[in-house]
Amino acid sequence: MDRASAKLLAALAVTIVFIGLAALRYRPPPARPADAPAPDFSAGRAREVLRAVLGGGEPHPTGSEAGARVRQRVFAELDRLGYQPRIQEAFACGSVGICARVTNVIARLDGRRAAKAVLLSAHYDSVPAGPGASDDGAGMAAALEIARALKAGTRPERPVLILLNEGEEDDLLGAEAFVAADPAAKDVGAVVNLEARGTTGASLMFETSDQSGWIVDLFARSVARPASNSIYYTIYKMLPNDTDLTVYKRGGLPGLNFAFIGGEARYHTPRDDFAHADPGSLQHHGDNALAMVRALASADLEAPPRGELAFFDVLASYVVRWPLGTELIRRHERGGKR
Ligand SMILES: [Zn+2]
Repeated sequence: MDRASAKLLAALAVTIVFIGLAALRYRPPPARPADAPAPDFSAGRAREVLRAVLGGGEPHPTGSEAGARVRQRVFAELDRLGYQPRIQEAFACGSVGICARVTNVIARLDGRRAAKAVLLSAHYDSVPAGPGASDDGAGMAAALEIARALKAGTRPERPVLILLNEGEEDDLLGAEAFVAADPAAKDVGAVVNLEARGTTGASLMFETSDQSGWIVDLFARSVARPASNSIYYTIYKMLPNDTDLTVYKRGGLPGLNFAFIGGEARYHTPRDDFAHADPGSLQHHGDNALAMVRALASADLEAPPRGELAFFDVLASYVVRWPLGTELIRRHERGGKR
């Protein structure tokens, strides 16, 4: 073999290894069993909760009787975990003019000190077309399993609020109601939102708030399997989609958003059911959110640093990040005026 062929073969081998690694690393992690250590997130446990909360798997849109039954089961689960959940009822209107009466479930875990709280948010309503086992059943079940894990582990420094809201599918109404009318909203310092736009795949961190380089840095240092890229948010901003995080951000709260997007054809259909809800996606969602809730509960939420980062993950193992060059632009502008 001549030198050129050897080089080509070596390059091919490296590429094949990289593609193989990428396929492995961007697959969601395996679901952990129901007997995983108590402070850890277990998709095995979360799936049992998901199955129970979904009941017969009927669609449960805003204001429906099926929705009321789902809400009662969510409330009962928080109660069983030793929380004192409460109900927020409010009439809310969204930004495209849809209004409805919504009922949110809220639970609070006191922190080691009285300070601004971390909000973990997901919605329990589904679209009328399907049971929403992933959208947003996965977020809901993850939040309930995290509520359990937080009690089992070291108490977080800051309080944690768990919000399971109604009406996301009708113009983000539950989040609107919480921000506008719930007294706990003014105590929130940062938000972790859980969503789904499919039924499978890795849980991607696809959105942050402005001036949130510090959250990206925290994400990079706290999450075991970070899958993210600042381009996701650039693309997302161009799409007509919104989630509850839009409402929280409008309310001035910093935060980050996780979603999985595989099996997109099942999104908002009858096949967004328990059978198609990927246990690995649930595990990744839960691992990400639990790590971020714990990290934010120890972070400076009173006066976080400003600044933006550009970033991308390498094989869901490490996040390369660098400050966006506002200083460079300013210098260029000054130069232009001369
Ligand atoms: Zn949703």
